[in-house]
Amino acid sequence: MNIEPARLGAEGFLLRTDHDRLLIAGGKPRGTLYGVYTLLEEKLGVRWFTPEVEFAARTNRLMLPQLNETYAPPLEYREVFWTEMTRDADFAARHRLNGDHYHLTAKHGGAAVVYFPFVHSMDELIPPALYSEHPEYFPLIGGKRESGYVQRCLSNPEVVKLAIVQVRRWLKEHPDATIISVSQNDTAKWCQCDTCKALDEAEGSPSASLLKFVNTIAADIEGDYPNILIDTLAYQYTRKPPKSLRPRSNVIIRLCSIECCFAHPLATCTSRENERFRNDIIAWQPVARRLYVWDYTTDFGHYQQPFPNFDVLQPNVQFFVEHGVKGLFEQGNYSGGGNGELGPLRAYLLAKLLWNPKTDLPRHTREFCITYYGQAAPRVLDYLELLESQVRSLPVHAHIFDSTKAAYLNEHFVSTADKLFEEAEKLAENDTVRQRVEVARLPVWYVQLATNRVSGDQRTELLHQFLKIARQAGVSHISEGQTLGDWAKKMGAD
Ligand SMILES: [Zn+2]
Ligand SMILES: [Zn+2]
Repeated sequence: MNIEPARLGAEGFLLRTDHDRLLIAGGKPRGTLYGVYTLLEEKLGVRWFTPEVEFAARTNRLMLPQLNETYAPPLEYREVFWTEMTRDADFAARHRLNGDHYHLTAKHGGAAVVYFPFVHSMDELIPPALYSEHPEYFPLIGGKRESGYVQRCLSNPEVVKLAIVQVRRWLKEHPDATIISVSQNDTAKWCQCDTCKALDEAEGSPSASLLKFVNTIAADIEGDYPNILIDTLAYQYTRKPPKSLRPRSNVIIRLCSIECCFAHPLATCTSRENERFRNDIIAWQPVARRLYVWDYTTDFGHYQQPFPNFDVLQPNVQFFVEHGVKGLFEQGNYSGGGNGELGPLRAYLLAKLLWNPKTDLPRHTREFCITYYGQAAPRVLDYLELLESQVRSLPVHAHIFDSTKAAYLNEHFVSTADKLFEEAEKLAENDTVRQRVEVARLPVWYVQLATNRVSGDQRTELLHQFLKIARQAGVSHISEGQTLGDWAKKMGAD
């Protein structure tokens, strides 16, 4: 057989049967490994639901169909940032995720990207301590140079010089890095001095002064580091691209969907925020040579709150790929303990989608639930249907900082969901399955507790039960900024 692995790219592979032989051949460094995992999963029915829960049929005889196919994933960078994925490198590799947070090693073919630093790097580029001697490095807002957690005056030539020195230092100190982050802090507070403002106004967006700054750094290092990419965010106030400035070929634009409605697909939701996002991605697509997306898949203000976004997972990943996105970072509950709202299921489904956006997602959902929730699976699937029906075809939108009083968490939802889980717990065939069902039920209790739907002794008992199950499951955080322990105190637990 005449195989040219180099033509398969870094991750593509070929599966071919030839009489009594099977050939798995892939490009370097991960193609052949991915070919093996794909064969096991898609041709031989092996499933890796969680690091602990696998499925493989017991048989004395393996039958393979005739095979002659190649596959290479459409996304070059795939990262599911949920604890359920980041806690086990082998598990992430089996799902053919190749991001920076999995601690992938040589046996996994390494990661596709190695970031340094990861994101929001402005304080590391131009330290806040420089303010006392050089307030002119910092943003002019309302006639005053601001200090603290702010952006920088990116048109100041000294700021550009200092940033270049720092980026070059990072490149020396971190020879493994493939991507250097030159990105805005996680705040607005950008500079409105005459020079910054003139450019931003001429270009129709504050992304202009950021991109000019990033391009200058990218141009400076290009000759010495031809394989290094500079990553910057198109986030909040910089999400809209400039009119004429273009990212250099060694610049990654990482577009962030933080404002969007996730109850309905990005492509079709009628909300203004999704319409704006569509306009921005359509504008970036032809100008960004490398477009990555930072996407959001849970409620970050309430990790244990039902989030009705299951219907949009697949259409949104497909939407990104159709709009030229090459890398996708799916942020969820990444706290130490994990086990956020349906975390294991969500991590699994997102992994399937990033590998193949056209995969049969309803089948994966059923398969996961049938194995993970055992006899209780039908009621858990009913619950998922209930959750989605709260927003499906309704003008009720969902955002990642929704409160526990969100319209889709109404009385009908809470009482029906609680009954479904009551039945699910009864159906559970053993303690392991029962415990998983209890963990899946926590979000319903969380809403009941947070909205004072229960009171008196009933509330005390429910809170006690909630905390007992959450602690057993290792839950460490109740939101991005609050630990379970702090929340328990706030709720008045002993
Ligand atoms: Zn300025
Ligand atoms: Zn919507």
